[in-house]
Amino acid sequence: MPPSTGRTRSLKEKLAILADAAKYDASCASSGTTKRNAKASGGIGSTEGSGICHAYAPDGRCISLLKLLLTNACIYDCAYCINRVSSRIEREAFTVEEVVDLTLSFYRRNYIEGLFLSSGIIRSADHTMEQLVRVARTLRLEHRFQGYIHLKTIPDASPELLAEAGRWADRLSINIELPTERSLTSFAPEKSSRIIKSSMAHLKTGIEAAKRTPREEKTGRAKPRRFAPAGQSTQMIVGADGASDLTILTTSRTLYTSYDLRRVYYSAFSPIPDASSALPPAPPPLAREHRLYQADWLTRFYGFELSDLEGATAGGMLDLEIDPKLAWALAHREAFPVDLNRAPREMLLRVPGLGVKAVDAIVRTRRYRRMRFEDLARLTPTARKAKPFIVLEGWQPARLLDDAALRQRFIKGPSQLDLFAAPPPPIAHTSTATLPLAATTVL
Ligand code: SF4
Repeated sequence: MPPSTGRTRSLKEKLAILADAAKYDASCASSGTTKRNAKASGGIGSTEGSGICHAYAPDGRCISLLKLLLTNACIYDCAYCINRVSSRIEREAFTVEEVVDLTLSFYRRNYIEGLFLSSGIIRSADHTMEQLVRVARTLRLEHRFQGYIHLKTIPDASPELLAEAGRWADRLSINIELPTERSLTSFAPEKSSRIIKSSMAHLKTGIEAAKRTPREEKTGRAKPRRFAPAGQSTQMIVGADGASDLTILTTSRTLYTSYDLRRVYYSAFSPIPDASSALPPAPPPLAREHRLYQADWLTRFYGFELSDLEGATAGGMLDLEIDPKLAWALAHREAFPVDLNRAPREMLLRVPGLGVKAVDAIVRTRRYRRMRFEDLARLTPTARKAKPFIVLEGWQPARLLDDAALRQRFIKGPSQLDLFAAPPPPIAHTSTATLPLAATTVL
């Protein structure tokens, strides 16, 4: 039963309230799912198309999801949450049928590619989870909906309900909420980090088991759905407690390695009305979230260890003015310049301005000829950022690395990087091999 609201609201009014209430959840990117198309199933929906964009996946793909709360009523009292039981806000709730109808009608109009559904906890964890599962099951079974579904999972829900959620959803997520157990206990007393992690472990087991199950031979029958094919993710609130960036990244590392998460989303704390005095009155700087994502990327794709990042922080906090890879390089100038024509891939990944795609393109190209700066500039738009840290045919950074004001040059803006520019030497390729134009990552 929806909570009492005093009067019956129209579906449009409910949508305004419950879509707005969902905006605090950052973990809705749909990257990583399998390709499905209604043409093959005879149903409706596809994960391959594109509609109105609401979010960007980590790979830069634009995705559109109908992002809703089933209800913004909640029996819990998490201090940082606008929907907590003690919050004086308008309460509303959808029925399962309303969410299903909205999803289908938005999909048919090509407004969305899928559904992101979360909820406050009503009555009990199991009751709430049952409602979420019913939405996904109805979409899949009754409407043969092939679009993307991300269900936010209630940690204390029964293993049977989690298992069924994984059967219908592409991605499941359970919010870890805060970086330390101490913060969770103090700000969300009804939640338990032990239970959250145990549910994550349960999802991990289901996801791994599904990966090991051999695909059925073509039989003409519809394929059974794989358990949460887009894996699981979580979200951590940044700036509500006093945890440092290094503490946050350490917790993320543990979650990635222990539960095989696809993503940890960092969500900057937003001050809320009537908040506890233990919470900060202002949000953290916007750049903090961004730097955390960059540092997270370095540990997952660039071979950086947490101990590397430690040296690039001050008091455990990342530098807000420059990205963490640049901060590390400036703190380890003895490791540079790196000869791009000879250095191992691991060292190329440490060069500021070179992303993974650029590095792979360099490795391919230098098999055939020695690279010049002009070649690098064709591979990546951030080649100039790398200039003080690299050696190439015809380019030496001279004494740039000894410049005490080098960090300042990066902060002052791109025009200052012209100081690194050498007169362009003539292009003298010795081979006809073409350069792959594949580099876009900026770290
Ligand atoms: S359980 Fe979720 S919705 Fe309820 S108060 Fe806590 S964070 Fe908010």
